[in-house]
Amino acid sequence: MNTRKANIKQPGILADRQTANSRSVVRALLQAFVITMVTGLPAYSAPDLVSDDDLFSGFSETCSQKIIYRPTARVSQAEHDENGNEVIVLDPSLKSPAEKSRRIFLAAHECAHHLFGHTSAEGLIERRYVVGMIAKQELMADCWAAEYLGRLGQGGDMAAIAESFYRRGRLYAVNGYPSGIERALTVRRCWRKGLKTRRNESPTADENASFSDRSD
Ligand SMILES: [Zn+2]
Repeated sequence: MNTRKANIKQPGILADRQTANSRSVVRALLQAFVITMVTGLPAYSAPDLVSDDDLFSGFSETCSQKIIYRPTARVSQAEHDENGNEVIVLDPSLKSPAEKSRRIFLAAHECAHHLFGHTSAEGLIERRYVVGMIAKQELMADCWAAEYLGRLGQGGDMAAIAESFYRRGRLYAVNGYPSGIERALTVRRCWRKGLKTRRNESPTADENASFSDRSD
């Protein structure tokens, strides 16, 4: 009786095992496909977006650094290449059309680090050894980027940029970086200042409706 039961069950067990095996093969293939898609092809095969149209008007004149798309720990970075030229490194994910506002803001932010000398030998020493200097440099770069883009009437959705900083709250104030709230308030204040300058320079200039001139 037991033997017969076992014999009857055996094919079923084998079939279950085979199904399980083929499921795990399919799962492995799917994982490999997803990993390839996420880490490789789309981000890296897209052409580099380096023209003024991809960033902001006057980028090549005011900033002029070479843009390099390469994964970085902080999404963007201002540094020097092996020949000592100023470059801006942007994460390849920033090529996505959905990331245009972020791409523009971060290019302007990293440009500001170069313009203010933060990437010079002196700037880097200050950043490393002077207490509070990292936060100061970061807020300077945030402010310049927001104000400059506001003055140009560019920068896309700056309210969303400020909002994404704000959502980091106070917990992100680590390793000397300013908190998300400090960065959000700086971006808003400097953006409004840029918009105001733009209106004074050209009273008919369109305002960014999503981000009014109200004070906080
Ligand atoms: Zn920075």
